[in-house]
Amino acid sequence: MVVVAMIRRAPRAPDAPDAPDAPAAPAALGGTPRASAPLALQAVTPEALARAVPACTLAEARKLIARVHRGLPVAATSAVRRVAAEAVAAAGHVPTLTVRARQDSAIDPFAKLVLELPDGELCETVRIPLERPARVSVCVSSQVGCALACAFCATGRLGLRRNLEAWEIVEQVRAGRAGLGPGQRVHGVVFQGMGEPMANLDRVLEAIAVFSEPCAQGIDARAITVCTSGHPGGIRRLAREAPRVRLGLSLASVRPEVRRALMPVERAHPLEEVLAAAADHARATGLAPMWAVTLLAGVNDAPDDARALAGRARAFAAATGIAPRLSIIAYNPVGARDPFTRAGDAATAAYRAVLADAGLASHRRYSGGGDIAAACGQLAAVAADEAPETVGGRHARVTVP
Ligand code: SF4
Repeated sequence: MVVVAMIRRAPRAPDAPDAPDAPAAPAALGGTPRASAPLALQAVTPEALARAVPACTLAEARKLIARVHRGLPVAATSAVRRVAAEAVAAAGHVPTLTVRARQDSAIDPFAKLVLELPDGELCETVRIPLERPARVSVCVSSQVGCALACAFCATGRLGLRRNLEAWEIVEQVRAGRAGLGPGQRVHGVVFQGMGEPMANLDRVLEAIAVFSEPCAQGIDARAITVCTSGHPGGIRRLAREAPRVRLGLSLASVRPEVRRALMPVERAHPLEEVLAAAADHARATGLAPMWAVTLLAGVNDAPDDARALAGRARAFAAATGIAPRLSIIAYNPVGARDPFTRAGDAATAAYRAVLADAGLASHRRYSGGGDIAAACGQLAAVAADEAPETVGGRHARVTVP
């Protein structure tokens, strides 16, 4: 079973898909650092470090950042002058997260980490083995909790507690990398953990800059996916500012009445607007978006649901010249009170057959880790179960046509 400590109660941060990011400025990075706060050196790009510390050249910044990401202290070397190393050490630090719990699935190679943030809040990170040997992807959180309250999501039951800083996002990948064997490496990052990344996009973009920086994490930007529940402004900004990063859409359903019941964000951003933004993203980047659908028995798993999805996918491809990659996710029920159950194998097969008949390939997402509740959209499950007042009401009101 999951062992997730109770998330501490604190005033909810005001945030929403279109609200400005939380006011707390980052202690670092791709952006302009606060003068009074030390730089979080693992979340700064070489350019930002050289700007913030004039005594350090860009070349020296690259060397020092490489040392930080290899777990080495900031220090003078044959390529870094003492004056530069001392100036960087005085300006910055390398804050860390505490691993509060770690679970390795008994049924598959998934691993889930519960990480404690400096203020005692918790976030969760999942390490996902990829089909290609020795490669893993790390599913990271962008917020503690989430304001968007998708009916099928355990994180949504927590409400939003706060945005993560860029370094807190970067540290999740560093934590996911820890313990990998010789030859194993982090190939990709997917923002599909706790939170809506578009609601914390400044910090997400800063973290992406570090992930894809060769001297830092060195991850190919095309192996990074930002998955959103539907935020047109954020999608277009992602295309402008990180054009090599992939877009993922969590659809749940393309039938508006079903999507509205499952994902309240549909009221603020109807699917038409979201898909229009996704089409702009595809045209601007040339990258196929991932469309994710978590199949819920008797809710969105009927052949008519599949036909509706196929129609949308074909229309998208006709309009952009780029077909979306369809990802079908198996649902892992969360606790005894969960009103949803996983679509059966037969229903899932029939659903995918409809897509195939329409000429659309679909990928049945590896959704392992069911024994540790590590599947997508299901993080913080036990914390939610421990707060029934935030669970029962919302679910009691969910009615799906
Ligand atoms: S599915 Fe994503 S956007 Fe929806 S409540 Fe969960 S974390 Fe938030």
